[in-house]
Amino acid sequence: MLVDSHCHLQDRQFDDDRDAVLQRARAAGVSAFVVVGTDLESSWRAVDLADSHSDVYATVGVHPHDAKDLDERTVGALERLADSPKVVAVGEIGLDFYRNLSPPEAQREAFRRQLDLARRLSLPVVVHARDADEDTYDTLAAYEEQALPDWPKDRPLGVMHCFAGDLMLALRYIQLGFMLSVPGSCTYPKAERIRAVAGGIPLRWMAVETDAPYLTPQPRRGQRNEPAYLVETVKHIAELRGDAFEEVASRTAVTAAWLFGLGDIGEPSVDAGATLGSPGGEAAN
Ligand SMILES: [Zn+2]
Repeated sequence: MLVDSHCHLQDRQFDDDRDAVLQRARAAGVSAFVVVGTDLESSWRAVDLADSHSDVYATVGVHPHDAKDLDERTVGALERLADSPKVVAVGEIGLDFYRNLSPPEAQREAFRRQLDLARRLSLPVVVHARDADEDTYDTLAAYEEQALPDWPKDRPLGVMHCFAGDLMLALRYIQLGFMLSVPGSCTYPKAERIRAVAGGIPLRWMAVETDAPYLTPQPRRGQRNEPAYLVETVKHIAELRGDAFEEVASRTAVTAAWLFGLGDIGEPSVDAGATLGSPGGEAAN
């Protein structure tokens, strides 16, 4: 059992063989796919895909690259899209000062407005942060303070997608109520920092993702990435932790199910309280 907590299956790169891609992933053990929006159109396409496949879920949001295009109408349109019961988060949203495809001030503004949207809708957020560790952390710490009084107890606030910070920062995010998601790039030769996080945080705060069609794991690097390759990432994480593959696969699946409220993942009898504990509770594994 595996959950791909972050992929872009609505991408045009999958137009010719999307159903075959889904079938290969199911055959490899992937039981749920979270398809992430990056602008209004890709959010709409994610919801459309989720509406027609029971194991596909969607998120809606505008990526920091497109932050300059986020206006009141876009926020309203995202909110209407989120009416679909298959929408499980707002994202991906955040800050990217590496490429700065939108001016930093526009990115900050779009990030805040979409955090407000998530809070209004009581949905977790999927956060993209690149070369913006401090700004992102400060924004999310302020958000936690704002959101917490009304936030459902024991529900994570969101997930740091493709987390690339160090282990200290990872633990600070966990304290804040954010999960960390480990991508296929943890298999790359130079990814020591990601491996330190993947080996160092509790599994109940760890999700795994492909970010397909991007970030193809090392054994298949050079090809288009797809959710079936999640197996390579989980193998790698299991090896470096000294855990069984099944353990990492099923526990990261339960983590993603907890985060996104995917009720039908895992044993229906799984008692989330006993399996996962609550944030700040006893730290198993
Ligand atoms: Zn992504």
